[in-house]
Amino acid sequence: MPKKKYDIESNFGIDVFDDKSMKEFLSGSAYAALKKTIEDNKALDPSLADDVASGMMKWALSKGATHYTHWFQPLNGLTAEKHDSFISAPDKKGNVIMEFSGKNLIKGEPDASSFPSGGLRATFEARGYTAWDCTSPAFVIHDEYGSVLYIPTAFCSYTGEALDEKTPLLRSMDFLSDQAVRALRALGNTTTTRVGTCEGPEQEYFIVEAPAYEKRKDLVYTGRTLFGATAPKGQEMEDHYFGPIREKIISFMQEVNETLWSLGVASKTEHNEVAPSQHELASIFAPTNLAADQNQLVMLTLKKVAKKHGFICLLGEKPFAGINGSGKHNNWSINTDDGINLFRPGKNPKDNIQFLVFLTAVIKGLDEYSGLLRESVATYGNDFRLGANEAPPAIISIFLGDELQDLVESIVHPDKASHEKASLLLSTGAKSLPTLSKDNTDRNRTSPFAYTGNRFEFRMVGSEQNIAEPNVALNTIAGIELKNFADYVDSQEDKDKAIHSWIKDNLTKHERIIFNGDGYSEAWVKEAEKRGLPNLKTTVEATDVLLDEKVIRLFEESQVLSPVEVKSRANIKYTNYANQVIIDAKTMSHMAHKLYIPAVNKFLGQLAEEISSLKQAELFIPKATVKLAKGVSKLIEETGNAADKLDSLISEAKTCSGRDLAVFCRDELIPAMKGLRDPIDALELLVSKDVWPVPSYGDLLFHTF
Ligand code: ADP
Ligand code: MG
Repeated sequence: MPKKKYDIESNFGIDVFDDKSMKEFLSGSAYAALKKTIEDNKALDPSLADDVASGMMKWALSKGATHYTHWFQPLNGLTAEKHDSFISAPDKKGNVIMEFSGKNLIKGEPDASSFPSGGLRATFEARGYTAWDCTSPAFVIHDEYGSVLYIPTAFCSYTGEALDEKTPLLRSMDFLSDQAVRALRALGNTTTTRVGTCEGPEQEYFIVEAPAYEKRKDLVYTGRTLFGATAPKGQEMEDHYFGPIREKIISFMQEVNETLWSLGVASKTEHNEVAPSQHELASIFAPTNLAADQNQLVMLTLKKVAKKHGFICLLGEKPFAGINGSGKHNNWSINTDDGINLFRPGKNPKDNIQFLVFLTAVIKGLDEYSGLLRESVATYGNDFRLGANEAPPAIISIFLGDELQDLVESIVHPDKASHEKASLLLSTGAKSLPTLSKDNTDRNRTSPFAYTGNRFEFRMVGSEQNIAEPNVALNTIAGIELKNFADYVDSQEDKDKAIHSWIKDNLTKHERIIFNGDGYSEAWVKEAEKRGLPNLKTTVEATDVLLDEKVIRLFEESQVLSPVEVKSRANIKYTNYANQVIIDAKTMSHMAHKLYIPAVNKFLGQLAEEISSLKQAELFIPKATVKLAKGVSKLIEETGNAADKLDSLISEAKTCSGRDLAVFCRDELIPAMKGLRDPIDALELLVSKDVWPVPSYGDLLFHTF
């Protein structure tokens, strides 16, 4: 028997204001109205808000909460919160009154001036609003010193522009729903009223021990190591992936799970990942806006619980050179409110046509807007992963698997070769698509975007990213192509013919985006170039895509982002990228001057002393000692020069801003940072461990417990 018994069923969701708690704490009428609001995906009627707020406060107080906060996701990649206690002015007798009004619940007014807005407004127009997304339930977070009620919200400026990740996500879900329903109507469906997207993220992360972490200023300031010679052992033995999980890690994972379960996050799968000290946590899929909130909770919980266990959880995309970085697989599906997964082929021909329409919309959309999808995962950290033979390349393509590929071939080239499994579905319209065997679809791990039987797995997402952004891109792209389909069919007399020709024409036109081979190979990079597929290698050129006329029009037409909002997001991206590079560069300079150069000089002094005392004593001076001293001396000279160069570039960076600064960072600072890292990593292999000022890769990655 384990030391402790844990009852998942009775603890799951206990800290969430879910259906059960709503029923218990709201009046019958408020409960019914709120439930309908959530189901219909509407905003809460202000006349109900006081009732709902008062019930929610009672529930939160019963959980020990003293404060509430509107919880939002500004464009700095983090979550934000400002706590207010439930108390209002004491009465005449000095008794404190507890108050949480409908107004407090629906709308908050944080000062927006210190959050990135990309030039949307001047600081003097500081007001921002947060508005409750009632389709994502409120919850209480406990820590040792108290408990707080969290209300998931969207964050907008005074003039209504989105300042966060969530607002466009909700808009994109609405747009996709409207267009998918139109497409379904064009296909004869009369029952579906709303279509939703679901998302199941698989979160990768590293665990290091806190004392070693604290000695690495690069990890502390930037979340990644900026120096470090590779350890004698890396991931070549592949002995970590799915290996037995150490007891101390299991105990950490268990506390993470229990915390998440009580918050209603269905944490499901945990295992060791490929790199040493790397792990994964997958939670069960949920509607995308909820999944995005829950993934933020997963990341916050991993960090918080790790500290309690004496660890630090590194969520960044590339904490260590030479071994795999971390990503987040984004499993995306589209489902109707009457229970149909639109990416499931189904068994009868009618379902097949519907499936083919949705599949074609995805294929067409990905080809038309591949740059946007690439942009949606572009971050400085992710630049070190994509295309580095550990993660998909920076080129967008779709993997369909043999059977589906055969089907597409049979439609695009009906006269060519034999299509073993696929029927001539479109020419007869009668035969059924063979049931795709799920196991046959997921063999390709090198594809950025793989069909896996009932969903698509987008594998380029960075581990630290908010999943909202890639899902905004996916939903909007799919939505616009379903709109294109519905518009076309609606305009034609012969609907059947229109449906079939839309599928065939678009599969033919966009077949080039399908690639079932090895996405990590050099041959694919060449082949993709031949096919004219973009290969946007860094965040800078990926961000440029946001300013393409076609992308601006897409967001405007779908009402997901206005042109002003899109441009502000591009500004924020360039700035965030540049800021991160500059912080890395400054950290490197700091570490070189304060730690590495003094330590190496000390070592060199010791060597020189040794040599001179041997000389004085007229003893034999070993050649290896002289060679070592010369080698170290040459490398420290190189280090000094590289540090000087980096320092002057850091100063030069102050002379530009915006996109120019991002370009300067990419073209000047990043190569200069490599120029400093190389001699220091070479020195690490020569200099005695006694004087080396920071823990090595071996110390960080191979736990001794
Ligand atoms: P693998 O490692 O093989 O990719 P996992 O089981 O680790 O698979 O993760 C699969 C993820 O996909 C989970 O988060 C799961 O909830 C999610 N998922 C499964 N079905 C769907 C679906 N229909 N829509 C969205 N996500 C899904
Ligand atoms: Mg996966």
